[in-house]
Amino acid sequence: MADGKACSGRRPFIAGNWKMNTTARGAEALAEAIARNLRERPAPDVEVMVAPPFPYLGLVARRLEGTGVALGGQDAGWAESGAFTGAVSPSMLKDVGCAFVILGHSERRTHLSETDEIVSRKMKAALAVGLTPILCVGESATARKQGRAVEVVTRQLVGSLKGVEAPALARLVVAYEPVWAIGTGDTATPEQAQEMHALIRELLAETGSPAAANEVRIQYGGSVTPENIGGVMAQPDVDGALVGGASLSAKNFLSIIYGER
Ligand code: PEP
Repeated sequence: MADGKACSGRRPFIAGNWKMNTTARGAEALAEAIARNLRERPAPDVEVMVAPPFPYLGLVARRLEGTGVALGGQDAGWAESGAFTGAVSPSMLKDVGCAFVILGHSERRTHLSETDEIVSRKMKAALAVGLTPILCVGESATARKQGRAVEVVTRQLVGSLKGVEAPALARLVVAYEPVWAIGTGDTATPEQAQEMHALIRELLAETGSPAAANEVRIQYGGSVTPENIGGVMAQPDVDGALVGGASLSAKNFLSIIYGER
């Protein structure tokens, strides 16, 4: 990783969100390619996670054994069990080897009407079983054009963290993902990312404590590629990336992990 965060003590964290992509064979092949490379050439200064679709978690977990690459769910429900057809509980994710869960992704907020209240329920459920949530926040293109980026991200962050106890805050990962940058190729500039990451850290300090806020890793997400990762990672409050499209190519994902262009 080109620009580590050694001084802050926050270990850079690169996560791949495969979304609703791959097949069983494709997921195994992608995991195998990542695993093979990392076994041959470990990346000890970076924490790595992949979040495949639910049905492939077990297959991918087996391919990643012994590599240190963590597994994450792309979502989890707020209940532990019961009559919630189609839902997956946080402890089920733990059961199949997940350490992380992505919550509040903009695609779920937009297409599945997830509110901050729903996200906060899911956050508490995930934390209760020891999963580390990657809480996604980010403004739409319209909100940014209207000068409301700070207002939107503040509302999402504070709303999604409602009821989360201060000690748990330090365990979180937050992903700043401007909606206008997701899957568009129109990535935020390093300065735009830094401005919002600094805001998020300030809000975490107010919600929890400055010490907890200093420990939280804040990832940038939105059209991250091997070409632009260096610029965002050079920013003092950017601790990693949540990568969508580029994480579906082992070559690109590995380049992002190794910080190569
Ligand atoms: C994402 O969906 O979390 C994401 C950042 O996607 P992409 O990298 O494709 O913009």
